[in-house]
Amino acid sequence: MKAVVLEKRGADGAEWRDFPDPIPAPGESVMRVVASSLNRVDLYMRDSGVGITHELPQVMGVEGAGEIVEAAPGSDLRPGMKAILYSEAFCGKCRYCLAGDQPLCESVRILGEHRHGAFAEYVAMPSHCFFALPDDADLTHAGLLMTAYLTAWRMLFGKKILRPGESVLVAGIGGGVAVACLQLARMIGARVLVTSSSDEKIARAVALGAEGGVNYRKDRVSKAILEMTRGAGVDMVIDSVGEASWGESLRSLRRGGRLITCGATTGSNPPSEIQRLFIRQLEIYGSTGGSIGEFRELLDVFGRGLLAPVIDSTFAMRDIRAAFDRLSAGVQFGKISLVV
Ligand SMILES: [Zn+2]
Repeated sequence: MKAVVLEKRGADGAEWRDFPDPIPAPGESVMRVVASSLNRVDLYMRDSGVGITHELPQVMGVEGAGEIVEAAPGSDLRPGMKAILYSEAFCGKCRYCLAGDQPLCESVRILGEHRHGAFAEYVAMPSHCFFALPDDADLTHAGLLMTAYLTAWRMLFGKKILRPGESVLVAGIGGGVAVACLQLARMIGARVLVTSSSDEKIARAVALGAEGGVNYRKDRVSKAILEMTRGAGVDMVIDSVGEASWGESLRSLRRGGRLITCGATTGSNPPSEIQRLFIRQLEIYGSTGGSIGEFRELLDVFGRGLLAPVIDSTFAMRDIRAAFDRLSAGVQFGKISLVV
């Protein structure tokens, strides 16, 4: 088959080339991939990969949707059915899996990180990681749900649910997770404010239902947010920017508000501001991925046609370098889709 194979670190490290077909282990099934999407973790793996245990060469791609071609005996799958992958091959036996919290699985192996991924014509995964899609499902849309949209789902509706009428500030609008948060928060009737360095991205966010935004190059974020919320601050902040935005994100929260982080693009060690934390009784917690239960909820909403993901651009997998260039440039709004 053909696949995007990571041979070495660096800009010329990943290439669309011949690679052996996947051989399913017992209990695994095989999917013909139709679509996937490029994520920041792919860029991180291409350029660094520190902290991710894998051996090169490695097929990239942490999510995918397509059509089952080989179904494991005893599974509910059948050849020809449309399917989407839950990207975390979880053990199903540890205390976290048994509690339904698969993203915390003690021996999780993530597609495209710890095992060969979905930037390929074919991919094998444990059968319990495949979820059937309706016959009329748009596989290009499905190919980009797992990472950005499931991550957003868990942050908004996971530990502390965002309620209709509450307000959420999404820092750094434009990236896949941030745009997904905007869409999902609007879907339930929450108020959304955004930050960006680009007036154009703020305008696009407003067109998608955001109430307003702050250009952090021109204005101080917390001051503007307090003005927009009549001095109260927001109920929730979603921050994947990290060091550069952290302080202003904390200062934009109402008393007792919550900050959820799922990334640290600009660095991991901002000042903690402990005094602010306890006096204003703020909550901070991290989030990554989503559980099988959350994935089912997301797929149900998607399957009923209530969610159309925002696609920034579409590339053929063979043009992986151009797709990486687009992601590195930081100019995208929504997801970078990849099709076989
Ligand atoms: Zn487990």
